[in-house]
Amino acid sequence: MGADLVISVGDLAGHLETERKFSGIRDVSLRVGDSTVKGPMAVTGVVVGTVDGVQANFRVSANARLTCVRCLTEWEEQLESEGLQHFSVTPDEDGYAIVDKEIDVGGIATDELALSIPATPVCREDCKGLCPICGTDLNSDPCDGHGEDPGSPFAVLKDLFDS
Ligand SMILES: [Zn+2]
Ligand SMILES: [Zn+2]
Repeated sequence: MGADLVISVGDLAGHLETERKFSGIRDVSLRVGDSTVKGPMAVTGVVVGTVDGVQANFRVSANARLTCVRCLTEWEEQLESEGLQHFSVTPDEDGYAIVDKEIDVGGIATDELALSIPATPVCREDCKGLCPICGTDLNSDPCDGHGEDPGSPFAVLKDLFDS
């Protein structure tokens, strides 16, 4: 599974102006806050030879399941991101290296995809969210019923403003 993101680069490393296009799919399972990406991640790109290794330029996309942090509406959204990563003939401090004349683009693509997941998504900029007292979705249903409840925090605020 995902072997198509493991790319043979033995003939590219150290050879400038050589390149190899690639594309592949890998299943991922990511979570950032309440946002999740679970399923296939598509990666396309090109690997080019450098003096001491290869550089992978790639584009990654996947479907994310997002939940509005204000009104809890859920929806699916296509995430897309781009990245590049150098893989050295010998491991460098990043830890990305050519191993057995191959590189695995899946790891860095997954990292890049994870960075593109919104941590606090909102369904729309002006989402009014839910009433903190009764849970009514204030986008579709205005709620103005709690001001008279002496137990509610709004009643306390109202008293403050009234005095
Ligand atoms: Zn919302
Ligand atoms: Zn309410």
